[in-house]
Amino acid sequence: MSANTPRNDLARLLAQRIEADGPISVAEYMAQALGHPEFGYYMGKDPFGVAGDFTTAPEISQMFGELIGLWCANAWLALGKPTPFVLAELGPGRGTLMADGLRALETVPACRTAVRVHLVENSPFLRERQRQALPGIDVSWHDSIDDLPMAPVIFIANEFFDALPVEQFVHQNDGWHRRLVDLDPNTPGSEPGFVFTHAPTPHPAKSLPALASLTAEHGAIAESSPVAQKFAEAIARRVRSHTGAALIVDYGYATAAVGDTLQAVRQHGYAAVLERPGETDLTAHVDFGTLAKAALSGGAACWGAIPQGVFLRRLGIEARAGALAAKATQEQKNAIETGLERLIGGDQMGTLFKVLAIGPRASDPPAGFVSEEASIS
Ligand code: SAH
Repeated sequence: MSANTPRNDLARLLAQRIEADGPISVAEYMAQALGHPEFGYYMGKDPFGVAGDFTTAPEISQMFGELIGLWCANAWLALGKPTPFVLAELGPGRGTLMADGLRALETVPACRTAVRVHLVENSPFLRERQRQALPGIDVSWHDSIDDLPMAPVIFIANEFFDALPVEQFVHQNDGWHRRLVDLDPNTPGSEPGFVFTHAPTPHPAKSLPALASLTAEHGAIAESSPVAQKFAEAIARRVRSHTGAALIVDYGYATAAVGDTLQAVRQHGYAAVLERPGETDLTAHVDFGTLAKAALSGGAACWGAIPQGVFLRRLGIEARAGALAAKATQEQKNAIETGLERLIGGDQMGTLFKVLAIGPRASDPPAGFVSEEASIS
């Protein structure tokens, strides 16, 4: 794939770096495109909603955040009502999920009083949006999970893990080679675009256990996200050391598989991954099986991943939609119905999106899960 669009500032920086030091990994390209302090995608704009590039579940309907808020209340009760406790959201975007969740928590006043809101967010721009979405609420922001206070904690993360950098590997006769991003010598014009290539030697198989067992054709691509695994393990370690729970919602697959899921989205349509870095959202599907393994090895129990549609139905989303519709105008009724369908419909977010829960070892399944859905290492 070659690109011949003019370079933007970030592309210029990346090109200089590749010229000086050689090709960079796909994970490094993705990390820079999303998180470069000055030009990264999330650093300077609000990408959500109709006017932005994509729409997430909390932006579709208030029911999503409300039900997750009630899930947290349930988890808090199961943990023995620790007071206070940390409610930590990873990558809160516009802050909508937290605002809807806290509103729902008001129906469980002791829980609402016990909550301390902590947001893990690396974009100063989005931190400001979150502050505006949570007026009158005492919020602390952090760059990393490690900075959260040492206390019982309930984590929520919606469409956070898909924004974490993935490594890609290309299958060759002698194993999996790390996929790299290089300058494309065939680009017309004076400014080369970027092109995918791969490392000349195979990656050590023992550092890629999930990929080692896959059968793949020559040239096939597989992914691995060490950063995502570290997050899942860090969550599990907190749950083990201070008690707690976590709910991870994202689009992804249940077990490691061959496939290139890295995608670029701009203005609600697909775009080229290697064009206009920092101006396009880059995501990869989440490998829930590997996340579950990381959580188990961090010392916690794990349930799922189950389809979002199943999870939200079990939490009673249809009854909630009915209750909202009973007090609504016809126009609002239509919006509630459309929102419900988008969240749980099998051809919309209901199947592709999945939900994984983490909790203390030897605890009962959290709300929305049954014991048969426990992950076993
Ligand atoms: N949860 C929100 C937004 C999802 S977009 C929603 O559902 O609407 C991803 C979010 O994660 C953004 O807020 C982005 O700035 C944040 N983010 C991405 N990578 C991050 C990282 N490594 N550390 C902290 N926040 C990150």
